Amino acid sequence: MKFGGSCLKDEESFKHTVSIIKKYLKKSKLIIVTSAINGITDQLMEFYKKSNDLDINGDLILDQIHERHSKIINEILPENSEYHENNMEFLKQNVRDLNNLGRVINLIHPSKNLQDLIVSYGEKLSTFLLCTYLNSLGFKSEFISSDEIIQTDDNFGNAFPLLDDTEELVNERIKPLLNSSSCEIACIPGYYGSTKDKKITTLGRGGTDLTAALVAYSLRSFYRCKVVYWKDVKGFLDVDPKMCNKAVLLRKISYIEAKELAFFGTKVLHPLCLDVSEKGNFPSEIRSFYDPYTDEFTTITQEFTKDVTGIRAITYIYRLSMVTIKSGTMISLPKTASKLFSLLDENNITIKFISQSSSENNITFVIHMEDSMKVSSLLRESIYFGKQWFSIKIDNNVSLIAVIGAGMMYTPGIAGKIFTTLGNNDVNVRAIAQGSSELNFTAIIERENCKKAINVLYDAFIG
Ligand code: ASP
Ligand code: MG
Repeated sequence: MKFGGSCLKDEESFKHTVSIIKKYLKKSKLIIVTSAINGITDQLMEFYKKSNDLDINGDLILDQIHERHSKIINEILPENSEYHENNMEFLKQNVRDLNNLGRVINLIHPSKNLQDLIVSYGEKLSTFLLCTYLNSLGFKSEFISSDEIIQTDDNFGNAFPLLDDTEELVNERIKPLLNSSSCEIACIPGYYGSTKDKKITTLGRGGTDLTAALVAYSLRSFYRCKVVYWKDVKGFLDVDPKMCNKAVLLRKISYIEAKELAFFGTKVLHPLCLDVSEKGNFPSEIRSFYDPYTDEFTTITQEFTKDVTGIRAITYIYRLSMVTIKSGTMISLPKTASKLFSLLDENNITIKFISQSSSENNITFVIHMEDSMKVSSLLRESIYFGKQWFSIKIDNNVSLIAVIGAGMMYTPGIAGKIFTTLGNNDVNVRAIAQGSSELNFTAIIERENCKKAINVLYDAFIG
């Protein structure tokens, strides 16, 4: 089970978390993967930044972090008990370590790696506290630090998990626990791991999801695993309720469909987490932390069912810019495309959509609107594109809409129906693309038509 930061923000949420754990414990052993207490990761990042500045000013942040945790410790652990004492000592020691780290950073400005080490304290503190709390209530629970079991590359800040090594480490460490009667709950901090040479790394924001998936992946050959993600939503919806008031919960969805949804901006889970779970072929559930026993939740599995229309969800990205570069026919576009995309890549521009006409004299791509100015000057200042051979056009008023569904693969005529539906409703389609997986069909339209397009497509395919 994965519990995020808002499941661990105060006395009440800690108690609620434990009530959920208690219920599930009747049926199986549990591995709990937890985030930092709500807001602490941001504060630790701020602390790292401040420590890098000349005038060290991070002490105040550490005071706040100490205060936040000790308040919860006082509320949930019985005063004068060994649990209380141990946890206060653990907190003090870790804040002291952070303080020392801050001073080292301030003095010698070491490499950026230390940011990962610093932010990992958030998960370490929250998870240790939850584990102690469970023990104080009579559960047999054990804390395992993630640097012992999650192995990653050295891409600090956004490290990539090494699956085989992680699998070995998890099995070595967790299997004996699961098989012994002295432990019923394993508590593992999310978000961080370590490199082969034992440097702490983090898995990117929201990385606790990924930790949970990695642990289940590693144990899949020996246990029947399922991952439950406790979230502040009930699961994946078939359309954004802000855009269409008919939104319905998707109760069952395949990993490939969930990945499409994630790509188009439905951020329910860390993106890599879906890949790892699909690979591991175990089910996942998204459930509401605030309504834990409702039968409304999303199950994600490897297999998908073909439904009537083949369309499961309509999604969109609202604020985008469409860039078209056009050349005379003398310029060969293969070279142009590689030059273009290298230039964008080197400058960290994310591309959400690409299309090229068959006459090969223009390429259209779509980027986040915030990147529009940057891309415009990159292109105009580049020796290749800035010269007279190309014309560059940027339209900052477009949105992307996508219809998604694995059943599309078997259903002819989807594209035709999309065009007819949009056409009949006066929505002008500026560009189209279909993923080669045939799981999504994407259209670029004018932003003023975005809401209308979502609603008419919803009615045509789902509603
Ligand atoms: N605490 C980390 C973050 O805020 C990881 C997580 O919450 O999953 O991004
Ligand atoms: Mg979080």
